[in-house]
Amino acid sequence: MTCPLLYRFRVIDRLPEPPSPAAARGTLVHAVLERLFDEPAPRRTPQTARALLQPQWERLVAAEPELAGLFADETERDAWLTEASQMLDRYFTLEDPTRLEPSHRELEVAATLESGLRLRGYIDRLDVAATGELRIVDYKTGASPREEFVARALFQMKFYAVALWLTRQQVPKLLQLIYLGNGEIVRYAPDEADLRATVRKIDAVWQAIQRARSSGDWRYRQSKLCDWCAHQSICPAFGGTPPPLPAVPGVVAPQTTGSIPPPAAAEQAPAPV
Ligand code: SF4
Repeated sequence: MTCPLLYRFRVIDRLPEPPSPAAARGTLVHAVLERLFDEPAPRRTPQTARALLQPQWERLVAAEPELAGLFADETERDAWLTEASQMLDRYFTLEDPTRLEPSHRELEVAATLESGLRLRGYIDRLDVAATGELRIVDYKTGASPREEFVARALFQMKFYAVALWLTRQQVPKLLQLIYLGNGEIVRYAPDEADLRATVRKIDAVWQAIQRARSSGDWRYRQSKLCDWCAHQSICPAFGGTPPPLPAVPGVVAPQTTGSIPPPAAAEQAPAPV
């Protein structure tokens, strides 16, 4: 939905992307918030969260040693850890984890649409009320979006809601995005019509992917995301040329998108919700 060519680089070409401090901080903060709920409720304090930072960072580096090379020296790494710590402090201004008992953390959800498309994703946290109502919670380490981009941010949450709806036959009561970058919460109460519209949207995105897969026409779409894109050097928007598409057994490889201009607004299908 954001950039078809970036989707191609990531999913079709499977090009590696070097770790970035911002992405690593997101992983670290998520890991701490997940582990925080292993503690008995009275111990879910800012002090406990801060104490979890270093061991979680060491665990992440052990699993992915290249993370250790993200920082020039210890001073830079410590400044980065301080920012992560400030995000955790901000979390406690938004929720009181001593009063929460999540039903699941890092919950894998999977469902198959009527079209046959298989959906799969991970929910940061699922809360189930005593009355059985579901709340899907996602942590973001960036800042909350401007009003015109909230719907786009909610698409991911509606995607999870669809997966839960199809597997549990229950529309989640609340979708909750917690933005630790600026300390704001976005909440949305979906209804069944919302989720049906999301299913149509997901199917439309998948059809667009299949069309691009058979035509080789993976269009680039410039946005603020380009500033963080690891593939600028092979993106036509920045004067680069994409590599040939990887061969698929039994399929003649279509032409690559090297000289394709950015799409006109009317051609940009499907549009974000
Ligand atoms: S640099 Fe921008 S336009 Fe090019 S692939 Fe990355 S996100 Fe898409």
